[in-house]
Amino acid sequence: MTIPTKKRLPFPVSLLSIYGVIGLCGIVAGLWLAHDLEVSRASLISERMALALQTSKFMSQRFGTTILTTDFVLRDMVSRTTPEDLDLATKNPGVESRLSLLAQQKLATLRDVMGLGFLDRHATFVAAADRHLIGIKSNSFLSTVVGMPVEDRANVDYVPSAKSANKQPSVLISRPIPTSDGRFAGGALAAIGLKSAQDWIETFVVGPNDTIALIDGQGTLLALNPRRPEFIGKELKYPAGASRLGPQRDGESFISVSPVDGRERIYGLSQAEAVPLTILVGFDLIRTLHEWQQRVQLFLIGGVILLVLVGIVFFMHWRTLKQSEQLRAMAIVDPLTGIANRRQLTTVGTREIEKATRYRHPASLLMIDIDHFKAINDTWGHPAGDRVIQALAKAMVETLRVTDLVGRIGGEEFAAVLTDTDPQGASVLADRLREHIATATSVNTDEGSPIHFTISVGVASLSDEATTFDQVLKRADQALYEAKHQGRNRVVLF
Ligand code: GH3
Ligand code: MG
Ligand code: MG
Repeated sequence: MTIPTKKRLPFPVSLLSIYGVIGLCGIVAGLWLAHDLEVSRASLISERMALALQTSKFMSQRFGTTILTTDFVLRDMVSRTTPEDLDLATKNPGVESRLSLLAQQKLATLRDVMGLGFLDRHATFVAAADRHLIGIKSNSFLSTVVGMPVEDRANVDYVPSAKSANKQPSVLISRPIPTSDGRFAGGALAAIGLKSAQDWIETFVVGPNDTIALIDGQGTLLALNPRRPEFIGKELKYPAGASRLGPQRDGESFISVSPVDGRERIYGLSQAEAVPLTILVGFDLIRTLHEWQQRVQLFLIGGVILLVLVGIVFFMHWRTLKQSEQLRAMAIVDPLTGIANRRQLTTVGTREIEKATRYRHPASLLMIDIDHFKAINDTWGHPAGDRVIQALAKAMVETLRVTDLVGRIGGEEFAAVLTDTDPQGASVLADRLREHIATATSVNTDEGSPIHFTISVGVASLSDEATTFDQVLKRADQALYEAKHQGRNRVVLF
């Protein structure tokens, strides 16, 4: 059986292509947005890095100025004394008091400095603004170069209270005095109290979870904003490769987890000019990316909502298409047998007969009726009768050619439109069907015993007298009536 219909794409293919394109657009848009988000994250971080670096540079310059000012004073003190003076000072009170007085005068000019003095070749105080220090051995950088060649430059280092000459944790700035052959002969030393470094660093306002640190040449933490006294004097270890904050790391920015509070920060690091002092400025990473992360969340939520909406639309579209497909099938198909119904048979049959008339091709029609069907229904019941009707439809589909159209006219009456078939050919086909039904087709009763049945067939063809579907059908019906009259289970050609 065939039910010729207008050629069209099977609906899942068209659905797939529509939603495939929508999906592809979605994927492209998603990738583009993800790339955009990635770019904006990177630029946010690099902006923050630049700001951290700029701030640390500014601050290290500021603190470096304090150190440089102190170093200018040390240079002046060094220029006003000689290695011989330093050797003499312990024996000659005149020399000692001249140098101590010099230290007192100079100290008065320095705001943040709390101690100032001279050391001899053993790094012991021989003169100082605070004379109590005289005779005490210094633990500054200079004590590490006793007897050694020295360079003419300032040194900065940190001493904890236990090692400090004045028992206070200090940042020491020292400048050596060399002998004529360049060896350490003594030096001048200034002490900046750690408290003033802490006070200074606290004058800068930091945002929540941001940080500023002052670090000496050995990587020791000197001051921290916000204040964390328990970390002062400790060496800071940054896990992300910044373990040692030495001069080689000047002017760098990096992202690392803080060894102080474990927060991830964007750091900028800068050294004071000419002195080994580092300022580290850290901006909280989470706070930096907060707005960006909100945007990512919004994007994800939007994506999920869009996906759900497209899914709903897809489902509804698919269901509508399926329903309309079912409706279309219902309009042309006989539900009991699955072959064309009367309407479809008439529509397509009319078209085929018109075509055959126009092109002068032969065409024939079969009218088929089950013999004594009433008796089958009465004897075996209506459901068994239905199965007989289905068996006949199946036999017609199998026996006739695929190009032939078969349909159920109603009840136990069927018809077939045979294109390109003359009356003789149609009669042969009809008899083959009748034979097949009479000998090879049986249906089971509800109890399982076989029901045999026969059919009568009326055949009529397109002719000069019968040129329309209705005319040919009428003749086939008359032939069928004749077949019944002649005793059934036979084919009669009109
Ligand atoms: P004949 O050989 O002269 O054709 O005798 P018949 O008993 O087949 O007579 P008729 O064509 O008048 O009988 C039609 C019967 O088919 C009447 C009706 O109860 C039954 N019928 C019609 N439609 C259906 C159906 O869909 N299913 C079943 N089981 N029976 C149907
Ligand atoms: Mg009938
Ligand atoms: Mg009948």
